[in-house]
Amino acid sequence: MPIPRFCPQCGANCLSRQQPAGDTHARLTCAACNYIHYENPKIITGCIIEQEGKYLLCQRAIEPRPGTWTLPAGFMENGETTEEAALREVWEETGVRADIVSPYSIFSVPKISEVYIIFRAVPIEITGSFGPETLDYKFFAPQDIPWENIYYPAIRQILERYIEERLAGVYGIYVGNDDTGKVHFIR
Ligand SMILES: [Zn+2]
Repeated sequence: MPIPRFCPQCGANCLSRQQPAGDTHARLTCAACNYIHYENPKIITGCIIEQEGKYLLCQRAIEPRPGTWTLPAGFMENGETTEEAALREVWEETGVRADIVSPYSIFSVPKISEVYIIFRAVPIEITGSFGPETLDYKFFAPQDIPWENIYYPAIRQILERYIEERLAGVYGIYVGNDDTGKVHFIR
């Protein structure tokens, strides 16, 4: 995460990392005006969207890893709920209007301070027009999913698990992290 040089409050070039009295972490603090710049994890929301046993993936047009396929997902904006953010990302990246069914997976990526919140959703309108962050979108049958071109292991696992669960007709809710791939099943 880039460290800002100038104080967002007073503009002075006086930011440095210090532990404020009574705090648990070092913070970027302005020596000129005492502003404290808090850095906290970013939240990414998205959806796993299934229609008649096919799964909606989008192909990334932008860094990181253009050309790879993934679930439609992106950073929350200020003023949004997680559900609104997830549906907006689906809309922007695939041109699909969708409805949320339930939460599905929450996983943390602590080394880059990100948290993913993935919902189950169903499509209600497929418009075919999508934004510049996407090269293509497609509903894939499980055997046609380009598994080697889904870069993030956590996204692969979410899809694999969902496909198994759909066959069983029972859906869980999961919490875990990205690196070990370990998830904790919540009933
Ligand atoms: Zn300042």
